[in-house]
Amino acid sequence: MIALVDVNNFYVSCERVFNRSLEKNPVVVLSNNDGCIISRSNQAKLLGIKMGMPLFKAQSIIRQHKVKIYSSNYPLYADMSNRVMQLLGKLAEDQEVYSIDECFLKLKRTNCLQQGRLIRFKILKDIGLPVCVGMAETKTLAKLANYMAKKNPEFEGVVCFSEIDLAAQDRLIKKIPVSELWGIGVRLAKRLNAIGIDSVYQLKTANPKWMKQLFGVNMERMIYELNGIQCYPIESFKPDQKQIICSRSFGQTIDNFTDMADAITTFVQKASAKLRKQELLTKEMILFIRNNPFTAKQPIQYLIRLKHVIHTDNHEQLMRLAMAGLTQIYQHNTAYHKAGIILLDLKRAQHVNQDCAAQIIRANLSNALDAIRSKYHHNIITSGWQSKDGKWQMKQLNKSQRFTTSWQELLEAC
Ligand SMILES: [Mg+2]
Repeated sequence: MIALVDVNNFYVSCERVFNRSLEKNPVVVLSNNDGCIISRSNQAKLLGIKMGMPLFKAQSIIRQHKVKIYSSNYPLYADMSNRVMQLLGKLAEDQEVYSIDECFLKLKRTNCLQQGRLIRFKILKDIGLPVCVGMAETKTLAKLANYMAKKNPEFEGVVCFSEIDLAAQDRLIKKIPVSELWGIGVRLAKRLNAIGIDSVYQLKTANPKWMKQLFGVNMERMIYELNGIQCYPIESFKPDQKQIICSRSFGQTIDNFTDMADAITTFVQKASAKLRKQELLTKEMILFIRNNPFTAKQPIQYLIRLKHVIHTDNHEQLMRLAMAGLTQIYQHNTAYHKAGIILLDLKRAQHVNQDCAAQIIRANLSNALDAIRSKYHHNIITSGWQSKDGKWQMKQLNKSQRFTTSWQELLEAC
């Protein structure tokens, strides 16, 4: 049996764990630079606040209904996600972490509903987060069961699709638009609608071979999965990342080299720490800087592809590479709005011959710096170009504390 466990309104729910008074209020969480609404409590949804809505468009509703606004607090959400995934891993035979707030679990076939309710109870009791659990024979159906659990309060957050009789299953999926299925985007849904497939039931009963000719093999697999035939097993081993991206839109525009160098070296620090955590090395980097294409007369982007002589995960070597690239592409008299780096040609450290003594010393230094930063603060040791609080940092006017990852910001109990 496959279960899909999904935390309800994840970012908002994380904020509510540390501020119980928020349960009564409509709450929203904003994207980077406080631009758009990316998580909403159920009360906020009922007020008509849409997902992805720019904050300025929702201002009148927010003022009128005293909606609480939070800037996104990624260190908090990442830590809460880790706690959820670790606990879920202990409750299942196998686990595939699918996103920050969703994972597939392999469960025993017996007492399906009971297992789902236990999962929901444990996550709420031990971590404080509400989840919905959808269970079925395939991943596609488990996702669908989770959707049903969310939309229908009478299920109390847990649906085991296989325990619903066939006639009732079909009655339920006749009411669900095909656009709600896992893997069906807006464009694909329009193409399906154009040939008369509007509901999940219509897709389930379509001819898989004919649909394969029209839409490709993934559509055929989806139809099999809707009929309970498993095509997508649980993938507990994550394949290695193909690239690591670190980029930001700035809180205010940058118009001088020093601030840009500060931002770029910070990105290199973050990206190289991610490399080391995954025991990967890189040999290639793309660096880009650009203005704001929505406000500037002319969109400008400068980009450079850089190669290092050997595969490395060393912050200092990557920083030198990035600074050499930045010096080449940086042009004065431009108001820069965004920049970033992409690390490519990633290889597992053990697959690269790294017996050079100098590289081993550098690796020890990087690991020591990572350990100090993770113990104290990510800014406790910075490199030459970095400032402690660059003016380019994201605008986050309503950020909560890092309750679980900083000793200085622990929740105080009175
Ligand atoms: Mg969710």
